[in-house]
Amino acid sequence: MYNSIKCSICDNIINLFKYKSMKDWQINGYLCSNCYSKKIKEHYVHKKEDTLKN
Ligand SMILES: [Zn+2]
Repeated sequence: MYNSIKCSICDNIINLFKYKSMKDWQINGYLCSNCYSKKIKEHYVHKKEDTLKN
């Protein structure tokens, strides 16, 4: 049975690669490559800001 997996953020059907979300993001399910790369960027920007504050 073919099960189409939808991206948890943009709701597009993920065809090729599905990405597991990180625990920190509090997202259930999978992300498409677009949203995943966006999230990864955000993740590291926030990390940088955190280290600058400390
Ligand atoms: Zn997406």
